[in-house]
Amino acid sequence: MKAATASIDLNALEHNLNQIKSKAPQCKVMSVVKANGYGHGLLHIAKHSKSSDAFGVARIEEALQLRAGGIVKPILLLEGFYSSGDLPILVTNNIQTVVHCEEQLSALENADLETPVVVWLKVDSGMHRLGVRPEQYQDFVERLHQCANVAKPLRYMSHFGCADELDRTTTVEQTELFLSLTDGCEGERSLAASAGLLAWPDSHLDWVRPGIISYGVSPFADKSAKELGFKPVMTLTSHLIAVRDVKAGESVGYGGNWTSERDTKVGVIAIGYGDGYPRTAPNGTPVFVNGRKAPIAGRVSMDMLTVDLGPDAVDKVGDEATLWGKDLPSEEVAEHIGTIAYELVTKLTSRVAMEYV
Ligand code: PLP
Repeated sequence: MKAATASIDLNALEHNLNQIKSKAPQCKVMSVVKANGYGHGLLHIAKHSKSSDAFGVARIEEALQLRAGGIVKPILLLEGFYSSGDLPILVTNNIQTVVHCEEQLSALENADLETPVVVWLKVDSGMHRLGVRPEQYQDFVERLHQCANVAKPLRYMSHFGCADELDRTTTVEQTELFLSLTDGCEGERSLAASAGLLAWPDSHLDWVRPGIISYGVSPFADKSAKELGFKPVMTLTSHLIAVRDVKAGESVGYGGNWTSERDTKVGVIAIGYGDGYPRTAPNGTPVFVNGRKAPIAGRVSMDMLTVDLGPDAVDKVGDEATLWGKDLPSEEVAEHIGTIAYELVTKLTSRVAMEYV
């Protein structure tokens, strides 16, 4: 029996991709599969994303892994390349790149490439992380147009900083700025990731770039994936390796930071921070065991965690426990831990068995 298994539901993935298509029917879809397909398995996810028109990754190694695995659809480096030595690799492997800064533009201008590279000019429309500032925009467009190493037409993109916060005006401002800068441009444009796709239709444009929602996780704090019509793709399970009597007043685990107020039964589950389950999960974080939520009781250790099963528990060694996924949304677990589900799913370690169903 495997200690911990991440079961990846490929039918749920297909369902989510269909939902995406139905919410932005006029758009092409660039599925974001960086960070090992958000922890779901880069190649498996790409191979089963049949309706996706392209893939977005963060690192050149991820793009190469996709090509080596037989993926022939367009691939975009969402942060662009990191050094001029990467440019011939982009050409050889037909990988598209973002350009967001002077260093990248100069590298392209000074290169001698066999074939021009498809370039997406990344505009800083207000997130102030990556992208050319509005006052630099015209100069970048002109130089990219003149550059023989850049395929024409040029493409244009930007990224939202707060699209998950529906009561803020930031996304409208970012959209307006991006639209006004790129007004009349000849190439394709892209703005929306998951939250933009779901909540800000004006941002749909030519390409949407969903990541998290394809994996069935909501980008919004106050709206579940289920309410939005999406299904969790990853379900993380382990099992009970001990069910123990703990008496009122006794403390459990390292530091003894949980003390039982009653005689109870504590379940020990074979998953810990060595598997990527966060050590920071506080007492009370839910784990789904035999049809109900059992709260974490005691500090998460490297290979195990402990839950309060209650005084009348009849759970047995070997019974399954779901850490997140079907029956227990990862968003709910993340909220207890003070993080986001993006972090939970991407941080599993290689000790967790991956199973594709
Ligand atoms: N586009 C870019 C440039 C990104 O950096 C990301 C993720 O961080 C995405 C799209 C996908 O975002 P999400 O997972 O929120 O859909």
